[in-house]
Amino acid sequence: MTTAQQADVIIVGGGIFGCAIAYYYTRNNPGRKVLVLERNEICNAATSRAAALLTRIRSKQHFIPLSLETYAAIAAMEKQLQESLDIKQTGVLHIAASENSVNDLKQLMQIAAEFGDTAEYIDNNTAKQKLPWLQTDEVLATGFMPTESYCDPYLLGTFFARCAKMQGANIRQGVAVTGLIQQQNIVTGVSTSAGNFYADAVVIATGTWSPLLGKQVGVGLPLAPVRSQYWITERHNLFPVTQPIALLPDAQAYARPEGGSLLFGIREPQSLVVSPDKIPDDISNYSFSADGGMADLAAVMHQLAKFFPGIYDIGLKHYIAGFSGYTPDNNLSIGKVPGVEQLFAAAGCVGAGISTAGGVGLALAELVAGKQSPFDISAFNLERFGVIDPFSDEWLQQCALARSQKRSG
Ligand SMILES: Cc1cc2nc3c(=O)[nH]c(=O)nc-3n(C[C@H](O)[C@H](O)[C@H](O)COP(=O)(O)OP(=O)(O)OC[C@H]3O[C@@H](n4cnc5c(N)ncnc54)[C@H](O)[C@@H]3O)c2cc1C
Repeated sequence: MTTAQQADVIIVGGGIFGCAIAYYYTRNNPGRKVLVLERNEICNAATSRAAALLTRIRSKQHFIPLSLETYAAIAAMEKQLQESLDIKQTGVLHIAASENSVNDLKQLMQIAAEFGDTAEYIDNNTAKQKLPWLQTDEVLATGFMPTESYCDPYLLGTFFARCAKMQGANIRQGVAVTGLIQQQNIVTGVSTSAGNFYADAVVIATGTWSPLLGKQVGVGLPLAPVRSQYWITERHNLFPVTQPIALLPDAQAYARPEGGSLLFGIREPQSLVVSPDKIPDDISNYSFSADGGMADLAAVMHQLAKFFPGIYDIGLKHYIAGFSGYTPDNNLSIGKVPGVEQLFAAAGCVGAGISTAGGVGLALAELVAGKQSPFDISAFNLERFGVIDPFSDEWLQQCALARSQKRSG
């Protein structure tokens, strides 16, 4: 075995999770060897397709420290690279138009206060000034959180990768991992299209493909590939570039500026789910919808139009879709793989992998180094559903339903 085939840690998958883990591991353990193996180009899959809301304040409070860590990492990496990531701190409007949403918003405003984030209620006139496209007839309450932001997800993923490289990580693209090498129940390396590589620990960070590697060691990794989709309108003066992000739980929709256009996404009543073994290795030419999502959009258009009547007239220029790893309880799936030594996974991202990348990266880097995660990640553990078959129809449908019914982050 040559030294090029040996590392302290092998990370399989060069999406934002894999790159973030490599960043923290090399930062906190100087001199140790990290090898990232990506079969295509880094950040080619879910990462580059994200709407990239860097949501800080969520009803699921255990996500918040992870997102705050992402903001801390961005500041540190901008310094290290002497380059700006140009994150857009537009703030967010939480727009409530039902009793349930008003109650949820009240709770969210309290959570913001507990975490020391600014949050204020604004009246309908002020909301409309901030969002010229918004119709406020049915709006009962609006909360404004000015520190919320969004970013370019590909750039953030590559920031992690570039800093990891500066700190000594070896990132190899075009290398497909085909198997896990085990001695009894200890993982000692991986077999790949470029030969075998060995390490003291292996991390599965292969996004929605992760159950395929889990299956090799007899473990059902809990997540399913569920489609998310969004549209970008033509440019219009209704969409100033500085307008806030809008969250519309009563329309199951969100929106943010994209240049002088509006980017908006929906949660369909029936989210599309596909078995992990049915997704091609390279999704760049994958057809996520035969009609660019138009039938799904048409089904919820009336809800969205209550807040954005212009939706009926505005031209839609772009359609973007991708798979994220969803779980039945909308919690991440990360941590030590049960029953197998020296194997870890950071896989189920529940559509929040850009905002939580910093926290996931740090938590996993520490676990792999034999330390404690600095965050409480017990709600994300890989054993919480017991033994599951991530390829079964029943499991796939449970995960799709969880995304459809999700009302907030
Ligand atoms: C439409 C859409 C909108 C989204 N919006 C947001 C948002 O607003 N905010 C947010 O926080 N998140 C959002 N997300 C979710 C976010 O994109 C994901 O959570 C995040 O990108 C997950 O990163 P990952 O590294 O786990 O997966 P990926 O980016 O999919 O990376 C996995 C990598 O593993 C590689 N790989 C797989 N198998 C192998 C193998 N055998 N050998 C080598 N390499 C392999 C793949 O090529 C891929 O590069 C959105 C997702 C989508 C699809």
